[in-house]
Formats: sequence, C-alpha cells, structure tokens
Amino acid sequence: MNIIIIGAGTSARLFAQELRKKDKESKITLIEKSIENNYSICSLPYYLSGQISLNCLFNEDNLKFNNINLICPALVISIDKKNKKINYIKKNKNESINYDKLIITTGSKPFIPNIKGIDKIDYLTFYSLTDTKKLKKIISKKKLNITIIGAGYIGVELSDALIKLGQKVTLIEKSENILAQSIDSDFSKIIENELIKKGVVILTNTKINEVVKGKIILTNNEIKNDLLILCTGSKPNIELAKKSKLKINKGIIVNKYLQTSDSNIYALGDCTEYIDFFNERIVCGLASTAQKMAKLLANNFNGKKKELSVLNASISKVSDLIFGLVGQKESKKNVSSNYKTNLLKKCFNKKNNIFIKIIANNKGIIVGCQLIGITGIAPRINLISLAIKNKIHLKELINMDNCYNPSISPLFEPISIACEVCLKKIKKEYL
Ligand SMILES: Cc1cc2nc3c(=O)[nH]c(=O)nc-3n(C[C@H](O)[C@H](O)[C@H](O)COP(=O)(O)OP(=O)(O)OC[C@H]3O[C@@H](n4cnc5c(N)ncnc54)[C@H](O)[C@@H]3O)c2cc1C
Repeated sequence: MNIIIIGAGTSARLFAQELRKKDKESKITLIEKSIENNYSICSLPYYLSGQISLNCLFNEDNLKFNNINLICPALVISIDKKNKKINYIKKNKNESINYDKLIITTGSKPFIPNIKGIDKIDYLTFYSLTDTKKLKKIISKKKLNITIIGAGYIGVELSDALIKLGQKVTLIEKSENILAQSIDSDFSKIIENELIKKGVVILTNTKINEVVKGKIILTNNEIKNDLLILCTGSKPNIELAKKSKLKINKGIIVNKYLQTSDSNIYALGDCTEYIDFFNERIVCGLASTAQKMAKLLANNFNGKKKELSVLNASISKVSDLIFGLVGQKESKKNVSSNYKTNLLKKCFNKKNNIFIKIIANNKGIIVGCQLIGITGIAPRINLISLAIKNKIHLKELINMDNCYNPSISPLFEPISIACEVCLKKIKKEYL
C-alpha cells in the first residue's frame, strides 16, 4: 500500500512509526513544508526560560532507520481525490504523488483576534520554534514591559517563563478567570495567585479597546507596552481540506475511526474535529490526543477496528505548582467535592499540599477531576482517566488498595477521601 502523510509534525511522525512497527511492506511518505519539523513544540516554554537547551528540543530522527520517506521542504497545495493524487511545490517546481491512503496532519495555527489597531503594530505569537527564537533574541537585550493577551495554557506557561527571565509581564484575559476554558474558577484562582506571587500582573475580565505603539488601551486605563504577544488560542489548519471539498466545520470532520468524508482520506491531530469520550464533537490542540489518534489509526490500518475514545487529559505548571485535569468541569448536572491535604507529614517534605476536585454524575460515576500540587499530580490524573473511561463508581476509588510509606506516599490516599466527600453529596436513592 502507498501511504502519504501531509505534514511531518507530532501526529504524522507518531503515526508513521507506529504503523511501521507492524507493517514492514507499505511505502510510507511524509510531505512537510517546514525544514524545522522534528522538535518538541510542548517544550518551547522551557527552552525560552533556559531550563533546556536547543539540542534538547529536537527529537531523535529515526525516519530513515524505519524506512519512512520524507519529502521536505515541500508545500502540499491540493488533493485530487478522484485520481488519488496530491500536488505539491518543491524547489519552486510543481510535483505530484499518488496515494492509496492519505493522512492529513496539517496541525493548527494561532488565532488572531480582531482588536482595533492590531494590524498597525508589531506583535508576536508563541507557537513555533521560529516564534521562540525571535522572542528570545528580543528579550536578551533588555528588560521590557511585555503584554500577553490570552490566559490559556500557552499564555500562562509563557508568563511563567518570561517572569523567570526577569521581564515585566502583564497578562490580560477577557474572561473572569485565567484558564477559564479548562479549569473551574476556584482552582484557577490558586494558579493565578501563584503567578501574581512570582510578579506577573494579571488583568482578568478585561476588554482591550485598542492597541497602539507603546501602549495597550483598556476601558478605564492604559498600560505601557514594549512587546505584545498574542496567546489568543488556535484554529485548525483546514484550508487544504476545504479546497479539496472534504467535510469541514471548525476542523476537518472525522468519524470515530478518524476517517474524513472521503473513505481513503484520514486526518489526525490538531487539524481535526472529532468525537470525544463524552460524545461531544470538539477541536482540541493536545499532543497527548494526537498520540492517541496516531496509535489508534496505525492499529486500525493493521486490521483492528477500534473507535477513538479520548478524554483530553492535560497537565501544566506555574513555577513549581503543577495543575492537571481530565474530563468534565463542575456543572449543574454534576456533583463535585473539593479536598485539600498534605501528601506527607511536613517533617518529610514541606511542600506537598494537594488540592483535589472530584466530579461525578448524580449516580456516582466519576466524570472529571482537577488537581493542583507540587508532586503526585500526573499519576493521579492518569488514574482518574482510567476510572472515567471505565465508568467507575466513586465507591470503587474509596475502597481501592493503595501503597503506603511515610516518606513516599500517604496512608490514606487523598483521591479516596475526595471521592468519599463527593459520595456524601449524592442523593441516597442512587447509591
Ligand atoms: C507553546 C506550546 C506548548 C504546548 N504544550 C503542550 C503540552 O504540554 N502538552 C500537550 O499535550 N500539548 C501541548 N501543545 C499542543 C501540541 O504541540 C499540539 O497539539 C501537537 O503538536 C499537534 O500535533 P499535529 O501533528 O496535529 O500538528 P503539528 O505538530 O503542528 O504538525 C503539523 C505539521 O504540518 C505541516 N504542514 C501544515 N500544512 C502543510 C502543507 N500544506 N504542506 C506540508 N506540510 C504542512 C506543518 O509545517 C507542521 O510541521 C503545545 C502547543 C504549543 C504551541
């Protein structure tokens, strides 16, 4: 089989290598427009802050070793669905290549909001290595008044990196809380306070009236600005799919097998609009989801017929404070409980607070979780992901076995206690 993949980013490489493990025969070819394509986008904030070097950013290139072809730099310009052929430009020449199966992995790009004056001033985005190198160069010269618009994951991670570098950072967010799309307001306040403690000025619930050279004009005041960085979300790269008359909405529409409206064409990663575990049609930019999609499709190409079932669990940090979340947020439909404790006695480790929010439906089935703390966040988020996927009742986590050693792990697992608190809130008739 001749398999062509458009793009050679996260999901393309994961898919190609996963497929090659089981399929030694098919010809696999990646076509990529950008020379810098084999690096960890997720590590960019840590490269910016100086925590890791440029070398550390790049992944090992084992495409050749795995007999996977890469055509690069080459821009795919159209898909000829009828003749199962794609057209691309390489070194200013038009070329084409045939496929049996085509995988689109064109990723996403920053969303630029319609703010008055934005087209008249210079601004940066923080979405690629090129962006990061540009930013690193500008801030290496002097201390600046930097304004970041948008307090989602990227805006928050970027604020943290820049404040560590001694820059003056103002983070502006139109919602009432930072990370408003991901996390409940009581928990986002904890992260907000950590950023404030580190020196970031945070303006939530704030509307920008206009941006002009040197300042940002708000409704009641204005702030001095030397450098504007937009972290205002992203949108899937769907132009190619649109031109090729594939079904699109916010992203390229795929079914639970990641198939587009053309049965020979699949799509993976940020460019897709897919159905998640809760049967919601969503677009979501996460490498962890791209990885799940890549693995599923590679297995399905090898005879399995599994459906996608992703929860979009995520994790990040501000300074030493880690926050992770999975599943649904608090809502009128759900019951939730908050629980705060220390994982270990203070004499073993002073910094081991953990904030837990467990969310269940009114029958006691776990549907979500948010955690904040210094340690033990990722494994607990993964545990809850498994619980949600298996529709586990609060009672099972209350009664789960846990290990104990006073210097490593608590006698009473805090997840179990949080589940107990949650269970008490649920009407007895369902239990
Ligand atoms: C700063 C930052 C931090 C992040 N941190 C995290 C994190 O901690 N955890 C997490 O889970 N996710 C994180 N993400 C999100 C994650 O990086 C993305 O979800 C993931 O990279 C998506 O993979 P992808 O394969 O869909 O797209 P990409 O990896 O972006 O690959 C798309 C590729 O397609 C190429 N391409 C596009 N159009 C064409 C064309 N017409 N012809 C040829 N090639 C083309 C592009 O050049 C690109 O190389 C972060 C993102 C950013 C920006």
